[in-house]
Amino acid sequence: MMIVMEQTATEEQTQAVLKKLTEHGFDIHKSTGATKTVLGVVGDTAAVDVRDYEMLPGVSEVIRVSDPFKLVGRVFKSDDTILNIKGVKIGGKELVMMSGPCSVESEELIREAARFVKKSGAKILRGGAYKPRSSPYTFQGLGLDGYKFLRRAADENDLLVISEVMDREQIPEAVKYVDIIQVGARNMQNYTLLRELGNIPKPILLKRGMSATIKELLMSAEYIMAGGNHDVMLCERGIRTFETYTRNTMDISAIPILKKLSHLPVVADPSHGAGLRDLVIPMARAAVAAGADALLVEAHQDPDNALSDGAQSLYPEQLDELMSQLKIIAPAVGRAL
Ligand code: PEP
Ligand code: MN
Repeated sequence: MMIVMEQTATEEQTQAVLKKLTEHGFDIHKSTGATKTVLGVVGDTAAVDVRDYEMLPGVSEVIRVSDPFKLVGRVFKSDDTILNIKGVKIGGKELVMMSGPCSVESEELIREAARFVKKSGAKILRGGAYKPRSSPYTFQGLGLDGYKFLRRAADENDLLVISEVMDREQIPEAVKYVDIIQVGARNMQNYTLLRELGNIPKPILLKRGMSATIKELLMSAEYIMAGGNHDVMLCERGIRTFETYTRNTMDISAIPILKKLSHLPVVADPSHGAGLRDLVIPMARAAVAAGADALLVEAHQDPDNALSDGAQSLYPEQLDELMSQLKIIAPAVGRAL
């Protein structure tokens, strides 16, 4: 349910409506636009008689919203959410590149990666410390040391850090060492994990599950936000289809759909989306043209010997090449790079 206040409503009138809603046990998301204030009511409002609110002074209208995306949706908040993470803004005019190896393999490797990632113009260093893998018998990451190595490498090069958490127990470590917490495709519907992430003061990048619909992705984001953490980014990373030439099918159409339905920043991961190095640059170009706010791209100084996802990791020169191509595409779609 959504309560739209009149343009002339006073603060006292708005407070009176808020008080009544709170007394009835609802959570409220208040958004103050240039002309009017809208109160988004979160919770089961089926039993509410809308007239009880319509008659309150200052209320313009009460709208029942069947849309399940109250917090992620554009109905309650029409303006784009721009996250400002230590000065790096995601969701605004600027196109942001996040890059680095699939996993943190050693301190030396991630330091070297941070240097070429910085040189390319990317702002955020990626690298998995806890690795979900297609097979559990492959490299599963360095764990806590991985976070520490990432942090040091990023700090040396004035970069931010994005890394994944797979388990609730890893959250306190991640909060300490990383700037953006990634929730991987395999955990998109791990609600105990999402619930914990709703309670922490850290931006979350939520990846679309490989068999998840766009609606399910939005519902998972909604769940994190309902816990109080509104700094969420949505990430398209390819879905499983019947196609076998690619590891996944990069769903470029999800990008404009998510941008239309939600105010949250949308990130594209063409590395997992395509699964093959040669496809990463074309898919990245398409994602930016389709409206992605940021890219998450795997790159490695020696991909042929990488411990994970080497086949989809760009060589450093390819990352540079991608950045120079994006410098042409970004302004054509109203973005700065
Ligand atoms: C990753 O980013 O390395 C990763 C494991 O991604 P996903 O969860 O999309 O498979
Ligand atoms: Mn990977």
